[in-house]
Amino acid sequence: MNKTFGKQYHIWTIGCQMNEADSRKLGAQLETLGYGPTPDPDEADVVVLNTCVVRQQAENKIYGRLGSLKTIKQRRPDLVLGLMGCLVGVKESPALQEKFPFVDVFMSPSDGGPLLDYLQEHDLCEAVLLQEQSTRSLRDAIQDAGNVLPLDQRGAAITAHVPVVLGCSHACSFCIIPYRRGGERSRPSADVLREIESLAGQGIREVMLLGQIVDRYGLDLDEGIGLAGLLARANKIDGIHRIRFLTSHPNWMNDKLLDAVAELDKVCPHLEVPVQSGNDEVLANMRRGYTSDDYYRLVDRIRARLPQAALNTDIIVGFSGETDEQFMDTYRMMQRLQFDKVHISTYSPRPKTVAVRKMTDNVTMAEKTRRRQMLDDLQKEVLTAKNARYQNTLVEVLVEKPEKERWFGRTPDNRLVYFEGGEDLVGQLVPVQIDWVGPYSLIGRKRQHANAELLAV
Ligand code: SF4
Repeated sequence: MNKTFGKQYHIWTIGCQMNEADSRKLGAQLETLGYGPTPDPDEADVVVLNTCVVRQQAENKIYGRLGSLKTIKQRRPDLVLGLMGCLVGVKESPALQEKFPFVDVFMSPSDGGPLLDYLQEHDLCEAVLLQEQSTRSLRDAIQDAGNVLPLDQRGAAITAHVPVVLGCSHACSFCIIPYRRGGERSRPSADVLREIESLAGQGIREVMLLGQIVDRYGLDLDEGIGLAGLLARANKIDGIHRIRFLTSHPNWMNDKLLDAVAELDKVCPHLEVPVQSGNDEVLANMRRGYTSDDYYRLVDRIRARLPQAALNTDIIVGFSGETDEQFMDTYRMMQRLQFDKVHISTYSPRPKTVAVRKMTDNVTMAEKTRRRQMLDDLQKEVLTAKNARYQNTLVEVLVEKPEKERWFGRTPDNRLVYFEGGEDLVGQLVPVQIDWVGPYSLIGRKRQHANAELLAV
């Protein structure tokens, strides 16, 4: 039992960084109503599942969880059960209410409001805490809580995700996100900057600005600042050491943004630009809005302006109609572009998308798996060769946590580093001498400051 709070909440999160950010906010908001965090759903008075439906596998996991929560709810009818995120979407609630009548509250992505209202309406809040907040309205307290870390992250978390663009209006043919997260909306820059300042004051040292197409930040606002302008303002916030942003779209990554990455000292040389396929016909079927040549030209521009930047991408294998020869274009693109990280997924048809309505999922699972394995093997080779340049160099690591009797952190270009060191180093920037390199991580030891020797990444 949490000593500070009479009631407890448990949030189970699956999926993307956006969901993690939404869960963080909801946790802090529940704390304003007198609920403390617990890792055990069996002990909780409120349980929330924050869901993802980007792939069928993720959706199946949610149904499994709902099954076990139904059993807990039968045993403890007072338990408040909330379902949040992309399974609920912006208009799926009525169908879900019918399917899962034991769930009390349904919440769209990024909107914990219905649960907070439910707890207040049903008199399920902790009165003492509410009285402590008597100098300001509860509505303000809940609003402010969106900018603070929940108790289980306070003093422990070094990095935080900060959504800056919600939803997406692009409608790639395979993607369910626009149907579930709604159209694109940017948050006002003052809100975003206030949140980052507040997080810095609570010990956060690195922020990741999030959007489905983050480069489009501000296009729907009258403020006249784009992502580059937002980065410039965030760069001035004391206490923040590093700033990252994801996910970019090849059509929206302009030179102004590349200049911002090159010139702003806290913005990391780390770009996430999904290509999805190296074949033009598949890209057209995916409705991505660019050709493979466009992407090659973009990478030339990125590497001319930011030669040390890590370039990460996403690839889908086995999209509807993808032939072996078309897949090999993707393979050859990966060989040529030597990405620093590739998130490879096998195509999973999603309800209501154009791909499901107008195309046939005709690549067998065995073939999808074979193609994926080929890309995994290739990427391992690429990274083994690329990471060799780190051997015997000094890199700057932002330390995140202890792990297996060593410290764990990342370089500015987002490589994972484990190293030996003495005192508590969490949240510090530490120079590390790299003694061992592998495809997925680097191992080294802490050195004294020697900025001149640091590898320029
Ligand atoms: S850009 Fe395409 S893949 Fe990304 S969220 Fe929007 S629709 Fe989905």
